[in-house]
Amino acid sequence: MPVCDGCGAQVDDAHIRARIERLEMATRYRPIHIQVLLLDAAPPERAEDFFYRAVGNRSERSDGARAYCNALLKCTGEDPSRFSSEIDAPAELQRHGLFLTNVVECSTGSGLAAALQRCAPSLLKRIQFSYKPKYVMPISTALQGILPLLREGGWTDRLILDGGAPFDVRSSPAAHAPGDLAAAVNEKLTKAVSNSA
Ligand SMILES: [Zn+2]
Repeated sequence: MPVCDGCGAQVDDAHIRARIERLEMATRYRPIHIQVLLLDAAPPERAEDFFYRAVGNRSERSDGARAYCNALLKCTGEDPSRFSSEIDAPAELQRHGLFLTNVVECSTGSGLAAALQRCAPSLLKRIQFSYKPKYVMPISTALQGILPLLREGGWTDRLILDGGAPFDVRSSPAAHAPGDLAAAVNEKLTKAVSNSA
């Protein structure tokens, strides 16, 4: 059985194909210059819930995936409730220089903590040599354990944190309160625009 480059597990061919498919879907929406790299722990279990998968109808996504999608969309400054029909959230993120990636590239279920430790070094390489973002923003509390590695890798000044800890994209604090992911991203994006003006 082959070993997956995305999660380090021994897997079957279908698993490898699914990972490559996810990479291809995400790459289509990768900005040329990444302002903020949104860093999650692992993709969702259900294939339909993967953020970069185009869905014909939002009802194909689970409630959790829709809330997740809205939380990311808010980071662009858009209000998801303004749109009555399907909005191309990945394209909006791309337009604003935002890109979402996962430390572990496959859904791992209960083995997440171990997989995070296993995959963190290769994530650091991806950030340094491939994504090259201005900022890195961890959006899952599961990523607390890999913060030291990011700091040792030289990202201390360019980590966007919530009081020293990762943000939690799955909770929804009040707008502009501590923990408000969208406000933190918007602040950095506004700065980036005014610096380049
Ligand atoms: Zn894998």
